[in-house]
Amino acid sequence: MAYIEKLQNNIWVQFSIPILLAAAVTWLTLHPYIEVSYRTPFLLYFGVIFISAAIGGSRSSIVATLSCVILSFIFLLPGYSPNSEFFGIGTCIFLAEGLLLSGLFRRVEKIQQKLSESEQRFRGIIEKSAEGMLMTDNSGKIEYLSPAVITLLNQESGKLVGKRIQELIHPDEVLEFEDQLHKLSRKEVSEFEFLRQVKTKGDRWIWIEGLAMDLRAEKSIRTFVFQFRDVTSRIELEMQKEDFVQITSHELKTPVTSIKGFVQVLKKRHQKEQREQDMMMLSRIENQSEKLVKLIEDLLDVTRIKNGELPYHFSLFDLSAYFTETIAIYQTIYPNYTFTFTSQGPAYVYGDKDRIAQVVSNLLNNAIKYSPGKTSLEICVHTENGRTKATIKDQGLGIPKDQQEKIFERFYRISTLPKEAHNGLGIGLYISKEIIKKHGGQIGVNGQTGSGSEFWFTLDTVKQQREINLRFENSNTKL
Ligand code: ADP
Repeated sequence: MAYIEKLQNNIWVQFSIPILLAAAVTWLTLHPYIEVSYRTPFLLYFGVIFISAAIGGSRSSIVATLSCVILSFIFLLPGYSPNSEFFGIGTCIFLAEGLLLSGLFRRVEKIQQKLSESEQRFRGIIEKSAEGMLMTDNSGKIEYLSPAVITLLNQESGKLVGKRIQELIHPDEVLEFEDQLHKLSRKEVSEFEFLRQVKTKGDRWIWIEGLAMDLRAEKSIRTFVFQFRDVTSRIELEMQKEDFVQITSHELKTPVTSIKGFVQVLKKRHQKEQREQDMMMLSRIENQSEKLVKLIEDLLDVTRIKNGELPYHFSLFDLSAYFTETIAIYQTIYPNYTFTFTSQGPAYVYGDKDRIAQVVSNLLNNAIKYSPGKTSLEICVHTENGRTKATIKDQGLGIPKDQQEKIFERFYRISTLPKEAHNGLGIGLYISKEIIKKHGGQIGVNGQTGSGSEFWFTLDTVKQQREINLRFENSNTKL
């Protein structure tokens, strides 16, 4: 292909081909037995222009036009006398048309050149980019891969093209990936993000993170496009951090629990002897160790969630009644606060009561912690369209709109928090979200900076007696 292109761009080819063709046609025309061509020589000359343009472009077509005019004047004109003025007019018209055609060919060439330049520019960007790009058909068969993919996977392009992308994914993750791919091909989603392990040369696994897009509707693309980068070092670092958190929380749990136990024993002894001063100090130690135990439990929960090991014990309970009891307890702990609770009566849900309690206490504690100087909270439980929604509204600091999703991520805290709200690890909402997700519900927040926050979560309402019985039976068989 490149050889033909080189030949076409050769100046000698561009000049010699039209001259030779024009000469050949003139010779043919001069043969008396080709009657038709003699009467209408320009018909064949047009052929010369088109063939020359196809071989050598617009430059050749100009040469062809001029050669035909010159050769016809030298060799054909004598044969046309005494009608030579008609021949002259015909030649002029041919010359004008030939030059016009050459102009058109030149324009087409310029458009083609621009298109190929922009294609080369985009190809260059893709090929020089450190991000890998891969195109597959509906079934995941690789059709194109950028040089970055070859470097990333350390494999030859020839070995990868034609292979299914699923074959590169780690066996533990391939089913989930297939499922995502099916959703994409069934147009249930138009794109999905992924973080997967893929095999490189020598059976080494690396982590890649990226986006898969369905671009079948794009006329010039018509494939699935995967864009990704190597995030192995980041993931390995995260894993090390997670291991550290897991080991440290395990190591801390036993001594802190013993401290709490010993303090309780000491408190009982001092109670008998009525040593008020000591009692006060011991109560403080007990409170602080309780906080520590809660923190360690939260950290362990994060690891359990990551490993899919957080245990759940489902049962049927009235969320509304649960809120009534909890709010009564909070009222005794925080006597200066006003807790306004509204509900439409019993709201039966099917879930793990202890885990839901974890969510509720996290939301209530946050509402208090992040509302310095504000002492009124509104809590509501109501049922709508088969779902029970619980909302906890405070008048505190509020959350900027752009961070309302992020606060549910692990270890995420708002950076502009005032000093009095500084303690915390940013895992409470992450755990809450995971718990609600396990119940098939949703969790979110409304409001904005300065105007308080309204946290909410939803759970399926269990209404019918038959459904209640059924769920009870199922839970019994599970337990
Ligand atoms: P922690 O409270 O330990 O930092 P959470 O996961 O419970 O962790 O909360 C994450 C972040 O969300 C908090 O650091 C805080 O910035 C913000 N946040 C949570 N609840 C509220 C609230 N009711 N009002 C304002 N900000 C909140």
